Amino acid sequence: MEPFLSVSGISKRFAPQLTLSDRIAAALGSATESRTVRAVDGIDLVLKKGEAVGLVGESGCGKSTLGRIIAGIMPPTEGQVRLDGQPVMSAGGRPQKTTTRVQMVFQDPFASLDPRMRVGDALAEGPIAHDLVTKAEASEYVRSWLTTVGLDPDYATRYPHQFSGGQRQRIAIARALAMKPEVLVCDEPVASLDVSIQAQIINLFLKLRRELDLTLLFISHDLGVVRHLCDRVAIMYLGRIVEQGPTRQIYDDPRHPYTRALLESVPKLVIDDHVDVQFNPIEGELPSPMSPPPGCHFHARCPLSVDRCRSERPHLVPLAADRAAACHLA
Ligand code: SF4
Repeated sequence: MEPFLSVSGISKRFAPQLTLSDRIAAALGSATESRTVRAVDGIDLVLKKGEAVGLVGESGCGKSTLGRIIAGIMPPTEGQVRLDGQPVMSAGGRPQKTTTRVQMVFQDPFASLDPRMRVGDALAEGPIAHDLVTKAEASEYVRSWLTTVGLDPDYATRYPHQFSGGQRQRIAIARALAMKPEVLVCDEPVASLDVSIQAQIINLFLKLRRELDLTLLFISHDLGVVRHLCDRVAIMYLGRIVEQGPTRQIYDDPRHPYTRALLESVPKLVIDDHVDVQFNPIEGELPSPMSPPPGCHFHARCPLSVDRCRSERPHLVPLAADRAAACHLA
């Protein structure tokens, strides 16, 4: 399949909040550049139409920032996102017509819904503004999307605080779908829900993807959820993709030491003479994106690190069809 959504050379740097001493140092010519946060650092990624790609990594690795850039909510510092060959944002960071074709579902549905707005109004606002539906049609339109996500259409008259967490996430999904997107970027959409509700929402994503021919970018730190839902996986570490490939291959045969460490850090229930939980946490902490280590960003935590890793950046190189890793030893 041809690339449908292509992410090329995306970087995002955030300027530091300068203190008085920083300003004095800058005036004296001392560099403040080193305090710039490199949240995303030169990412290339391709999504084919209708596929689900998981974006995985520890908190702070830049996956949510990348998701916002892909959804056209945040402009990149460098690079471009294209959908069907059309830019999602202009060079100046302004949303384009294409932007509505990519919608986002956030982790916290309560924070993403206006508490003063009835659910029906919140769902109708965007489609009316973008001429997807007239005001006269809006009520029926909203009711149909509430039904699609498994909610009573009469809930349109209620406010967000009248719902449970799982119901609110269904409303947030309905609001994104009401914009008739072709790509849904889901940023940890089940992380704040109870385990039983998580399974329902994951099954809802599977159903919606099938019925609406959606392309999904699923951002998560939960490797189990990603394995269940995604065709391919991209593993992020400190702003860069370090490994990507088909889900089954990545889980069965990880080629990057970080991917291997992530998989080994997942707690497993072992039932023998007695019930035990086994896991192997990753040593050390994610380095600061303000001062990433030279060479391979993972070298201080990598059990296989060699001299070369401390000075030479490993680039993402193909290992096999549809499979790549950024490691000198991969
Ligand atoms: Fe480990 Fe070196 Fe590979 Fe980085 S490049 S993951 S430090 S072996």
